[in-house]
Amino acid sequence: MDLHHTSATPHQTLLPLAVCALVFFGLAGCKSQPARESTPAPDSPDTTASTEKAAAQEAPGFVCDDDIDTRELTPKEQALADELWKQTLEYLRGFTTALETSRLCLDSPLAMIQTNDGKSDDPQARCVTRYRDVELMAKHVNWVLDNPELARTCFDVQKNYEAFQLYTPTEAMKQASEVAAWIDRPTLEEYHADKKGKVGKAGRELVENFEAILKNTNSTAFVDADMTYQGLPDLWAAVGWLAFYAENPKAINERFRGGYAYAEVMGPWGLLRIKEIEGELVGAEIGMTIQVESFYPYHFHHSQELYMNIGKPSCPKQNTFMVMHWDNPSFAQKRTDGGWNVGVDKDKHRKATWFRPTSPSDPNEWIAYYERNAIHATHVGGKCGKGNAPSGFAQVWARTSSRDNNQTTKICVPVDKKGNPLEGVTEVTETDRVVCNLEDWKP
Ligand code: ZN
Repeated sequence: MDLHHTSATPHQTLLPLAVCALVFFGLAGCKSQPARESTPAPDSPDTTASTEKAAAQEAPGFVCDDDIDTRELTPKEQALADELWKQTLEYLRGFTTALETSRLCLDSPLAMIQTNDGKSDDPQARCVTRYRDVELMAKHVNWVLDNPELARTCFDVQKNYEAFQLYTPTEAMKQASEVAAWIDRPTLEEYHADKKGKVGKAGRELVENFEAILKNTNSTAFVDADMTYQGLPDLWAAVGWLAFYAENPKAINERFRGGYAYAEVMGPWGLLRIKEIEGELVGAEIGMTIQVESFYPYHFHHSQELYMNIGKPSCPKQNTFMVMHWDNPSFAQKRTDGGWNVGVDKDKHRKATWFRPTSPSDPNEWIAYYERNAIHATHVGGKCGKGNAPSGFAQVWARTSSRDNNQTTKICVPVDKKGNPLEGVTEVTETDRVVCNLEDWKP
């Protein structure tokens, strides 16, 4: 697998940093320049030209999103931003290393791509870097890791982020991290404090257990890196979290709507916002999710998705998930104008055969890849087993094509026996009848 994995030496990246630093303090949307040797070597012109060519290849041009905060920091603030940057790189390093480590495949992990293939009732798996979008994501993350000074120009702690409000999970987590305390986001604790009904109750359960859920994790079972809250406490506390569904009734299940949150480390809305590298669109969107006991209803989206499970289950089937391709024979597909209506109602035994357990320490269970428009759902079970681990589930999460087509996550709609949408439903289970209204992806 050729991922252009090269190591930049300090002298190769020093000059581009200076070029970019000028832009950094002047203009938003820094376009860094390929590296050049600062003093021509006393070689023949041919050798100099080839050295320059090699250096240019090793230091690709980065284009940041145009909303990177470029204001100057005090030395104290700079040190805190440096720590968050360091932990961001460690998270990305763990992520891409996990994608490139031999695990059931010679060059990568074997990812679950369908929990049930609809024919044999067996799950289906594939060596994950055989997908071109995964390969590209790994290449782009490696470019970041090999050129940290260049990539840093696209890094923004999102202290003054204006697109939407981001949160730190709890006051205790904020106080435990000097970085999170400096960025000083409002907390999800405050956010959920006066929310009404089941959404608010689940939200308060989430924040009460947030830290304990994050501590009940493990990534070293699948990669030689601690990507969890224990290993990278400032990142997990200071990254911007969102209670994504709390105010969205389309997500149906009220416990899920309150009991779910996600955060983005790299991607169009994350800490590291790189639009292009070497003229290639950077589709990588990498972050984390958390969910307390609840059912994330059947849903789908255009972008492919990848999950690495770090949440340790307290009993074997505590946390289960399903993913099946939209054209799986277990569903009923009907062509519409510009898409497909996919009926999820054919298999009466779907709960037993569609949903599979997931655990970070099982080589068959820790990673899953969802193809475009794949239908998927997650069931986080209640407390079980011995010990005091709370119910709850944290995952490393990524999308691979976050900059094309429609990024909206759409929840499948509850319907009656005739396929007519049911209004006002606030609870849907694994076995309820739903229809997923897919939209064609446009090249
Ligand atoms: Zn998804």
